[in-house]
Amino acid sequence: MRPTEDNPQRIDPALGRYSRQILYEKIGLEGQRRLAASRVVLFGCGALGTVLANTLVRAGVGYTRICDRDFIERDNLQRQVLFDEDDIAAGLPKAEAAAAKLRRINPSVTVEPVVIDVNPSNIDRLADRAELLLDGTDNFETRFLINDLAVKTRRPWIYGAVIGATGLCMTVVPHDTPCLRCIFEDAPPPEMNPTCDTAGVLASAVNLVASLQAVEAIKLLIGRKDEINRHLVHLDVWSGRVVNMKVQSAYDQGNCPCCKRGEFPYLEGKFAATTTTLCGRDAVQVHPGGATRIDFVAIAKKLQPVAAGPVSHNRFMLKAAIDGHELTLFPDGRAIIKGTNDPDRARTLYAKYVGA
Ligand SMILES: [Zn+2]
Repeated sequence: MRPTEDNPQRIDPALGRYSRQILYEKIGLEGQRRLAASRVVLFGCGALGTVLANTLVRAGVGYTRICDRDFIERDNLQRQVLFDEDDIAAGLPKAEAAAAKLRRINPSVTVEPVVIDVNPSNIDRLADRAELLLDGTDNFETRFLINDLAVKTRRPWIYGAVIGATGLCMTVVPHDTPCLRCIFEDAPPPEMNPTCDTAGVLASAVNLVASLQAVEAIKLLIGRKDEINRHLVHLDVWSGRVVNMKVQSAYDQGNCPCCKRGEFPYLEGKFAATTTTLCGRDAVQVHPGGATRIDFVAIAKKLQPVAAGPVSHNRFMLKAAIDGHELTLFPDGRAIIKGTNDPDRARTLYAKYVGA
């Protein structure tokens, strides 16, 4: 019998696993073939990242590189759908555990894990040959870095962010739709920037934002750029409210330093956070990139619910016991994190609790 579009399983047994997706008219057999030939890079494999990777690998994206620096902790399991108790017992990094799980889900595509702290010195190489960049990160610094690379190399990327019950999502097609810096010129100061580790996060919000990101990714990968959502989506799963915000004028009328003026300071490492291991002190100093002024009152309020004991501060420093570490924060955003010699661990703690 001749293969037909409406019976994909007869076309090629290998495509049978995608039959319900191929039946969806906007994708079809041609779209499925394009997905199989596509190549993406995912930065961050936590809450958003695991749902994104899960959806795209099941959908048949041919090659997915997963970059993440963290290990799995028990409080991740509430929302990070690719991990389980066995992964924690095995002490696996997130990228490796995700790849192992995804290969069991779909062995017909390639998943490449890279355990790495994504920064200006390596992002270009990590994104090598990827036609689409995906945001599964949890901080502005890395998002602006992705944005710089995407705009400079004219590749689309998909922004996603979740906190509490709320989320944001936006598809960035450089020199067409607004980029992230058209919308947010600079990262908000840390006290204005709650993190999932200080304000909590609901899995439903994560799943919804990552699902929106994934469908935008599929549209771009199968060549349906004309059908992307050109709005900034804001949603609240608790109230059920979804708002599509019109943002095109931010690109059309704006003077964005990135996509209009061609400045890429994040890619050039001008705002990159640096860490120094303080020898013999079991401590790491984290210095955020760029100029920051810290509001100790606001930070103390943010940290108090998750700190072991009172968060104290004076004009010169703030001290808090968090996650088995002692955090000392200075007015310029610099921090000393005691209880570790591992710069990646210190950066993770900084991003989680101070925000980056
Ligand atoms: Zn821009």
